[in-house]
Amino acid sequence: MPNIVVVGAGVSGLTTAYLLSKDKANTITIVAKHMPGDYDIQYASPWAGANVLPMATASNSRWERRTWPQLKRLALEVPEAGIHLQKARVLRRTKDLEKLKTGVYSFDGLFMENPWYKSLFDDFRELSPSELPAEMASGCEFGSLCINTMLYLPWLVGQCRANGVVFKRGVLMHISEAASLSHAGVKADIIINTTGLMASKLGGVMDENVVPVRGQVVVVRNEAPYMLTKSGTDDADDEVCYVMTRANGGGTILGGTYQKGNWESQPDPNQALRIMRRVVEMMPEITNGKGVDGFDIVRHGVGLRPYRNGGVRIEKEKIDGTWVVHNYGHAGWGYQGSFGCAEGVAELVSEILNKPKL
Ligand code: FAD
Repeated sequence: MPNIVVVGAGVSGLTTAYLLSKDKANTITIVAKHMPGDYDIQYASPWAGANVLPMATASNSRWERRTWPQLKRLALEVPEAGIHLQKARVLRRTKDLEKLKTGVYSFDGLFMENPWYKSLFDDFRELSPSELPAEMASGCEFGSLCINTMLYLPWLVGQCRANGVVFKRGVLMHISEAASLSHAGVKADIIINTTGLMASKLGGVMDENVVPVRGQVVVVRNEAPYMLTKSGTDDADDEVCYVMTRANGGGTILGGTYQKGNWESQPDPNQALRIMRRVVEMMPEITNGKGVDGFDIVRHGVGLRPYRNGGVRIEKEKIDGTWVVHNYGHAGWGYQGSFGCAEGVAELVSEILNKPKL
């Protein structure tokens, strides 16, 4: 029986374990410092919005392409997963058009004109000029979804448990320590590394290309009639504007910031004010025209997106005699690429075990 230890219990680790656990031959243990229910600056997953707004360019769209049908199925057929369908509007500011061509953000694919993802969504359409707010060159709309991470992460834990996955708390100093942490009491055949941002500090990995991209958010009780994002803001190059309402009472997420290299875990009150102001400017109806004062705040938060220069790392490598399959560095698209990336890991696991592809 292949003995697999997954290090990390964020959306990447849980989805990977879930997919691998569908093969009854696998014995799987998840070891992690943080588990669903925790809120910590080293744990990105609970802080995410989380919605599906494709960020890849066409050439690296595999992960997001493969994930969308899975998440959509959960939204339609599995209410307890905490995902609902919601319309999304993506607006391209006139003043950003030139800048976006040079690739300023890692999510530039989202704002491209004539994007590859128009074929992903059945109802994709370009907005007509009369539908565009001031200062927008163009924009598009499609039926997307929003995940309530407070429900979805525990749901993934439940699916894993139903398939026999065992969960353990543990803090590793070196990735090789995972080899001796299987609940089966025998050495692991394969270690899966889903440590997100902390892959930058984990012995045996120490990936210098992994850096935080700080995301500050405000969670409010007000509901947004649709999801909205625009290509930039006038406040700062690393401040962004988006809004989404989570499924099943998860609140509405107002964002945000995209601050590369910034590890600050505490919300900045000035940033919070700017985030709220930008949202009411774009969507006055969210507070019934009462402006920022009309927001009913649940909490302020900060999460660090696990960004990796050069892109996500889905790769196998032998470390200290044990195969390690890496799956980290998802920046701001960890949910919307989760099933595709887990599938990529499963392929590498099959290669290591000399099994035909799933
Ligand atoms: P994490 O969730 O950080 O999990 C890492 C795991 O590894 C944790 O369990 C941790 O404890 C464990 N670990 C690390 N080091 C060790 C160690 N040494 N020993 C033991 N355990 C260890 N994505 C979307 O798809 N859509 C969105 O709308 C979206 N919005 C976002 C908004 C914000 C504000 C932020 C911050 C992120 C957003 N993201 C979004 C991105 C998404 O949250 C991340 O890409 C994703 O959560 C990364 O998941 P992960 O499992 O790779 O890492």
